[in-house]
Amino acid sequence: MATPLTAAKMLAVLKAEGLTVHEHAGWKTHNRDSATGKSFGPVHGVLIHHTAGHNDREVCFNGRTGLPGPLCHGWLGQTAGLWMIGHGRANHAGLVDGDVIHALVAESSPLPKDDRADTDGNDCLYGLEIENLGNGKDPYPAAQYRQAVLWAAAICRAHGWSERSVAGHKEVQPGKIDPSFDMDVFRADVKKQLATKPGATAATPPPSASKPKVDLSRLITAAKTDPGAKQGHVTYLAGTNLVEAALVKLGYLARTYAGDGSFGSTTVTAYGRWQYHLGYRGTDANGIPGQKSLVELGKKSGLFTVVA
Ligand SMILES: [Zn+2]
Repeated sequence: MATPLTAAKMLAVLKAEGLTVHEHAGWKTHNRDSATGKSFGPVHGVLIHHTAGHNDREVCFNGRTGLPGPLCHGWLGQTAGLWMIGHGRANHAGLVDGDVIHALVAESSPLPKDDRADTDGNDCLYGLEIENLGNGKDPYPAAQYRQAVLWAAAICRAHGWSERSVAGHKEVQPGKIDPSFDMDVFRADVKKQLATKPGATAATPPPSASKPKVDLSRLITAAKTDPGAKQGHVTYLAGTNLVEAALVKLGYLARTYAGDGSFGSTTVTAYGRWQYHLGYRGTDANGIPGQKSLVELGKKSGLFTVVA
């Protein structure tokens, strides 16, 4: 339970989380408060939707017949980025299950089944509409999904909430199916983001007397798991971030690819270049870390030591 963020604060926290934010003209005063006589807040959580359409930013701003806009607070295009649509009460949640709202307030898990529609969700939930057909075939590009995670994390961070203050529309209103991705996975991704510093692009470990340690076997697991897993999959957050920071420092990895804790294919390629630099060839330079190359990377960068 919390007082809604001001428009200025909302903008600031989204940008601080690393998002590029586009502002629809008029969004700061676009809401349903005066028309309904009901004001927005206190707020209890963030709600994720898919739009079930394409090119629907203006629909989300203006609304549709029988449902005046704004239909959300933020609209996230498949490729058009994040747009601010409304500020205050928005027509996105509708009547939802009060038990689920109570669970969001308590941040209890798992959420109870949504089997009633007895509470006005527009009073108390921030809403993000993600442009997607929601048919299970329309892809959520990695960059779009990542922005959704950042949007939810930014608001949770600003309110001091955990990922348990995040829900999908399908989890709060009976009959809803949006969003079409797994909300437990989404919450796990928000949790990972909340464990980082907002806007962090590369983890530069704080100076300390003893250097942090990277566990070789966990790192190998990450390098073998993350590239084939869902975009942004994180197996070994701390170790991967250290290794990526080292690869950035030595010029083998672009900064934009570092710091998300995922040992993705770009990191594997970068590590392979480091192995090549050390004189390894063929499968010895396949980007999967080995003892000698990792120890050398820790030494040369000065960022970590290795435990096997
Ligand atoms: Zn929805």
